[in-house]
Amino acid sequence: MKGLDMSIYDIVCVSPRNHMVFTPLLPSTCVGTLEFRSVTEPVNWIEPALAATPYSYFHLASCTGIDTAKHEVYRETVGYGRLSQEPYRFKVAYDKLVITAGAEPLTFGTKGVKEHAYFLREVNHAQEIRKKLLLNLMLSENPGILEEERKRLLHCIVIRGGPIGVEFSDELSDFIMKDVCERNEILSAFDVSLRQYATNHLTRSGVRLKRGVVKEVHAKKIVLSDGTDVPYGLLVWSTGVGPLEFIKSLDLPKSPGGRIGVDEWLRIPSMEDVFCVGRLEGKFLEELLRRIGKQNGGKAFCSKDIPLGDPFVYRHLGSMASVGRYKALVNLRKSKDTKGILHVGFVSWLVWRSAYLTRVVS
Ligand SMILES: Cc1cc2nc3c(=O)[nH]c(=O)nc-3n(C[C@H](O)[C@H](O)[C@H](O)COP(=O)(O)OP(=O)(O)OC[C@H]3O[C@@H](n4cnc5c(N)ncnc54)[C@H](O)[C@@H]3O)c2cc1C
Repeated sequence: MKGLDMSIYDIVCVSPRNHMVFTPLLPSTCVGTLEFRSVTEPVNWIEPALAATPYSYFHLASCTGIDTAKHEVYRETVGYGRLSQEPYRFKVAYDKLVITAGAEPLTFGTKGVKEHAYFLREVNHAQEIRKKLLLNLMLSENPGILEEERKRLLHCIVIRGGPIGVEFSDELSDFIMKDVCERNEILSAFDVSLRQYATNHLTRSGVRLKRGVVKEVHAKKIVLSDGTDVPYGLLVWSTGVGPLEFIKSLDLPKSPGGRIGVDEWLRIPSMEDVFCVGRLEGKFLEELLRRIGKQNGGKAFCSKDIPLGDPFVYRHLGSMASVGRYKALVNLRKSKDTKGILHVGFVSWLVWRSAYLTRVVS
């Protein structure tokens, strides 16, 4: 929301992370194609008002609760590893509240996932994956190591072939051509012809696709629902995301999937000052808050009767995914039934890479 009208509002941003992660390029950092600092941007750079405007602040803290009747948010400071200290709790009053806490990886309650699998959402996840990958490569070279153990160490499994799973596999197979990854079913959100292209391309690159459902995860193997054991050295879990525990704990109206329910203006029904958005809707909310502010509705409890203008409309602009060796898929159809651009190959990869690299500011 870097376009928020600062003559009307001060901003207080609260997050346990002081930077934004440019996630489309995160898989490239796991194998060193890109450096970690290339895919992050400090929040103060994205929103300079947080550093330069007297009454706007960034707080490195987690929200632990919200009292919508008192217009207060409760927070707790966060610590990092050996730098951790006793959490300090505090509260801040608000006029308008925007909840944008994101989501967390879904495990479907599968036993052992949280203990043994790696997720890929934050920079520290990519750092852990890179360390594990290099450690396994080194260990597999040790003299006297049994062939079975060497194969296990070099066997990487990526659970689910969505865009993240495919892009991570692609980086990995580019990095180690002999590696073997196993996945269920790939890029189900893409058009059939693009999926077929991706499947053929990845198979040629040494990625083995396997259909199955993971029943349990152990330290060195996964067990599929048909009873098959599949040993691994590295397991990356990318089966989508669901609501955070913090969001679940809030006493706000929720959809059946556990997400916060909002009206057509992304406002929580019956709460005139609380909004909830994902990354797609920031611009809409900037404009909405500007309109409310211009009509003297910027303070708490002042916007009930203010006309909000046109409601939010989601527009799907298309999807892109890299599949390795300088090849990508671009799907600019608004839906499967409409006409639009479908493209695969090197030119698509150039579109994919330049679209994302030009978005990384630093
Ligand atoms: C590897 C990878 C590749 C991806 N590639 C693409 C792609 O190519 N195209 C695409 O469209 N999407 C892609 N995505 C999805 C995209 O990253 C997410 O949809 C997007 O980041 C969601 O944005 P958000 O602002 O809703 O949440 P987030 O980006 O998750 O931001 C949420 C923020 O809230 C903070 N937070 C969490 N809990 C609290 C709390 N209790 N209190 C305060 N703050 C809190 C977090 O620290 C974080 O800063 C990818 C995701 C991954 C993981």
